[in-house]
Amino acid sequence: MTTPKTALENALENALTRWIKPLVRTISAYPVPDSTGMIKLDAMENPYHWPEPLTEQWLARLREVSVNRYPDPRASALLERVRRHAQVPQGQSIMLGNGSDELIQILLLALAQPGQCVLAPEPGFVMYRMIAGFTGLEYVGVPLREDFSLDMPAMLAAIEHHQPAVMFIAYPNNPTGNCFARADIERLLEVAPGLVVLDEAYAPFARDSFMADLPAHPQLLVMRTVSKQGLAGLRLGYLCGDPAWISEFDKVRLPYNINVLTQISVSFALEHEDVFAAQAQAICRDREQVFAALSAMPGITPFPSEANFILLRTPSGQATSIFNALRERRILIKNLAPAGGLLHDCLRVTIGTPDENRAFLAALADCL
Ligand SMILES: *Cc1c(COP(=O)(O)O)cnc(C)c1O
Repeated sequence: MTTPKTALENALENALTRWIKPLVRTISAYPVPDSTGMIKLDAMENPYHWPEPLTEQWLARLREVSVNRYPDPRASALLERVRRHAQVPQGQSIMLGNGSDELIQILLLALAQPGQCVLAPEPGFVMYRMIAGFTGLEYVGVPLREDFSLDMPAMLAAIEHHQPAVMFIAYPNNPTGNCFARADIERLLEVAPGLVVLDEAYAPFARDSFMADLPAHPQLLVMRTVSKQGLAGLRLGYLCGDPAWISEFDKVRLPYNINVLTQISVSFALEHEDVFAAQAQAICRDREQVFAALSAMPGITPFPSEANFILLRTPSGQATSIFNALRERRILIKNLAPAGGLLHDCLRVTIGTPDENRAFLAALADCL
């Protein structure tokens, strides 16, 4: 039995309804499940720590930080590191964000005008839709084809009809793991009336990139993050493109968005980029082993991936029960079946350490 609401509770409820945006009232916050004590294979984190001597050097560097001072508002030293690390072409600018999620928000805040629209293929990264909603932009999702390739006739028709201010293309795509055909993306770049953001969050694991294409396409932006590479806790993303665009977006960025610990720590980490490159290589190698093992399991269909995760399809109607059975065995992955559509019966697993992968595969075999 629910207790009747007091007058105060009713007044609060009315105030929320009156003042909070209706869209915000209807959605729920981005869900982050409790993973205490679990083998955590749900969030595309790099499972590896730094070698001990590196940790010591990093701590020595942190000791010199003046936390009583505001950080360098332009993060110049870090910008130069990022430029070299990502091989950002000459003449292109970079904006840093508190994760690439913040960059999506800054971009959409700068673009938001009544009636304008954001377009992205679906299934895709959920933050495009969420942030478009908060910033008052229309969002148009264009379904991929069954094989997760771009449905070009549908994309071209949607672009023609909606004239999107910006199109987001995750390359490789999350949660499907594939890279769309380069020729298709080049065609989109030709016809796009607005910006095209290539979201290369999984660049460390992929074979191709649009970074070198920036100078040829003034409406192209390339966005990356250090999160999937092994620095998710530091929250740093970067957006690269024509200085004319970046300087507009920079006006919307809050002055000290990259804190001093992140600036120092990512600069330090990128001085040792070979360590992270070796980890990414190991993860790619293990990804192929997990893929082969999944392919051999009766009823399981894994989809080829150029990222640090694999999307897999379970026998019809079983994804949620398999997900729950894995969770009971203290293994946390991502259940995408509730999203439905092309993701029916789908689960997504992040590549962990070889031990974690073995534990996952054994538990999965046990659940089938
Ligand atoms: C994880 C992810 C991001 C967000 O990265 P952060 O830098 O951690 O905010 C952006 N885009 C895609 C496609 C992702 O999968």
